[in-house]
Amino acid sequence: MPPPTPAFALPDSAAAAAPDADAPARGTRRPSVEQAKLNKRLHRLVGQAIADFNMIEAGDKVMACISGGKDSYALLDILIELRERAPTPFELVAVNLDQKQPGFPAHVLPEYLASRGVAFHIANQDTYSVVKRLIPEGKTMCSLCSRLRRGALYRVASELGATKIALGHHRDDILQTFFMNLFFGAKLKAMPPKLGSDDGRHVVIRPLAYVPEADLERWAALRAFPIIPCTLCGSQPNLQRVRTRAMLNAWERESPGRLDNIFRALGDVVPSHLADRRLYGFEALAPTGMPDAEGDVAFDDPLEAADDGACGAAAAPISVVSLHRERPAEPL
Ligand code: SF4
Repeated sequence: MPPPTPAFALPDSAAAAAPDADAPARGTRRPSVEQAKLNKRLHRLVGQAIADFNMIEAGDKVMACISGGKDSYALLDILIELRERAPTPFELVAVNLDQKQPGFPAHVLPEYLASRGVAFHIANQDTYSVVKRLIPEGKTMCSLCSRLRRGALYRVASELGATKIALGHHRDDILQTFFMNLFFGAKLKAMPPKLGSDDGRHVVIRPLAYVPEADLERWAALRAFPIIPCTLCGSQPNLQRVRTRAMLNAWERESPGRLDNIFRALGDVVPSHLADRRLYGFEALAPTGMPDAEGDVAFDDPLEAADDGACGAAAAPISVVSLHRERPAEPL
């Protein structure tokens, strides 16, 4: 069944024919079929996420945080177009925090943002020196750096009167966070598409929550965004995150659709089949005398039955290939 049309979706014809979105950010080349299809797909996924989580309401002032990386450029690109064409009116302001890393090309973002005709604000805060002073040489700086950046962005959001803070995290960021929490934090916890800020004063949204990173990489290349490298601080990449990302990418190569399935599972939680006593009243569980159509029988799927052999019966031979088959992924 096709997904419901989100209130924020562009009509197909508009998404495919939007002149600015189909041209490279700086240039007039005609869009390829691939570019038009990708444009349409990105708008569909973003529109769906915004609608599903009620991320943007009429009259909102959305502050899009722009770092100079591909994800935040894509976020802004899509929000600019949505604002022009979606039926829900909202304001948009792009904000970049210049953290004073040595070599940061401070002219790139203002020039780009001015060329897009979007309201923008560059906030200056030397978090780089603070982090360098407090973190011993050779240790990872990202945790403190992002905490300082978060605080600075909340302050700017208050100053600008923004009602929503939009971040460029995508589906794969959410999955990486989920597995890192699972592997290293022993928690079933990811990165939500919408949440209240730490200071309790803002709502943070992630409109790219349904978008695979590979789509953003292709979109950034097609649109020729002026990417600012994220290694200016000289920090080591977070090795566990790099490994987790490689693991997920390998899974997807081996079994296409697996990441969509895992992501879909984050929105389809069954507390009675986990083990969190705070979420389900296991202690008070007693026979009801009534069959439950949603009970264990819902999990008797032929793949599982053949896999665990729990019934002791000789399972019909199933090839290794079919045992590794993923559930078919429906479009998000
Ligand atoms: S990579 Fe550099 S700029 Fe980014 S969070 Fe880490 S320390 Fe901060």
